[in-house]
Amino acid sequence: MSSTRIIVIGGGVAGLTAALALQEWASVTVIERESQLGYHASGRSAALFSESYGNAMVRALSRASREALEAGGYFEHKRAALHFGGPDDGEAIDRFALEAQALLPTIRRLSAAEVGKLVPVFSDGMTCGGVYEPDAMDIDTGKIVQESASAFRALGGQIRTGEEVVRIEPDGEGLRVETTAGVYETDTVVNAAGAWADVVAERAGLTGIGLAPKRRTAFIFDAPGHDVRNWPLVVDIHERFYFKPDAGRLIGSLADETDSPPCDAYPEDIDVAIAVDRIERATGLSIGRPQSPWAGLRTFAPDRTPVTGADPRLPRFFWLAGQGGYGFQVSFALARLASALLRDGAVPGDLAAFGVEREALAPDRFISAEGGRQAG
Ligand SMILES: Cc1cc2nc3c(=O)[nH]c(=O)nc-3n(C[C@H](O)[C@H](O)[C@H](O)COP(=O)(O)OP(=O)(O)OC[C@H]3O[C@@H](n4cnc5c(N)ncnc54)[C@H](O)[C@@H]3O)c2cc1C
Repeated sequence: MSSTRIIVIGGGVAGLTAALALQEWASVTVIERESQLGYHASGRSAALFSESYGNAMVRALSRASREALEAGGYFEHKRAALHFGGPDDGEAIDRFALEAQALLPTIRRLSAAEVGKLVPVFSDGMTCGGVYEPDAMDIDTGKIVQESASAFRALGGQIRTGEEVVRIEPDGEGLRVETTAGVYETDTVVNAAGAWADVVAERAGLTGIGLAPKRRTAFIFDAPGHDVRNWPLVVDIHERFYFKPDAGRLIGSLADETDSPPCDAYPEDIDVAIAVDRIERATGLSIGRPQSPWAGLRTFAPDRTPVTGADPRLPRFFWLAGQGGYGFQVSFALARLASALLRDGAVPGDLAAFGVEREALAPDRFISAEGGRQAG
């Protein structure tokens, strides 16, 4: 066991998968403010893996995570994704089909009749067709959080829940981390604090990098008379709503991105009502009373690419943040990348082969070594 000490702040999917990778060569402690792991964004996701989702770097990270997700048994079901267009969306659908096919040859442009056959709520005249991604998957997100935590503990890693990091300061060669329960001396801090990652930076005397938490709302509903189990995820081509099977029922969402401070996010009735209205209008479904609404924060960097790398102003402070709406599908590639960068500063060859680039993910794209250190 190496004597390198690392503190990971945040017990969501980012922190836990990284902690597990790091514990293989370092001595790692995860500090999580809540009493429960995965309480915030990681406990509220729609659990989809789609290789056509997000920008080019997100797609590269997703492709690079696929094998580990499969090998770990974290894919629950095959769950195709269907980007569907309304009657006037033919051009947008054609454009997206061409772009997506260039990336994934298995993606197909479907006619209106094919869409209606796949998801029988779409009848004649309701759609111009869609773009079908057959190899998207449902992810067992709870299993990733729980198994990463238990494998980490089995390797000797420590997890402290109910403990909040309140201050980080340079201390000789390392860092001194003060929490609500005590003080730690460490060599490196990994900032995997999700929506609070900029707040944690401020607690280390650094200005944040402009992360923007955005609220997304979801709820459960039924489609009486339909067996929805094998339906794909259906997303409107303009991303104004989506719905997706879940345990024989449907998850619906407004696909909203409402700016929010970092917080324990709660759903707004109006967002649920708008989503219900849009789904009903587009499909003819009669949703009735939606159930169990929830909301979570998807936290984006200004360029919507995750932020993974050492802070140029305080190199022992390492960012693992800004996973946006893709935190699970990119988790394993980012965890390995974080571990490799912290150990020897290089991107592993197999990740590089997928197009994962250190510079595109580094915090340096928002900050420089000279700028943005706060006084005191
Ligand atoms: C509605 C919704 C749908 C989504 N759908 C998908 C999807 O289909 N596929 C997908 O891949 N992703 C999806 N996501 C995104 C995914 O859930 C997130 O990207 C991911 O969970 C982020 O993980 P994280 O560990 O960075 O953040 P979090 O899970 O929020 O973890 C950060 C943790 O840090 C802790 N923390 C913060 N500050 C401190 C401190 N000072 N001290 C100690 N602890 C601290 C917090 O308590 C929190 O538990 C969705 C998200 C939402 C909200």
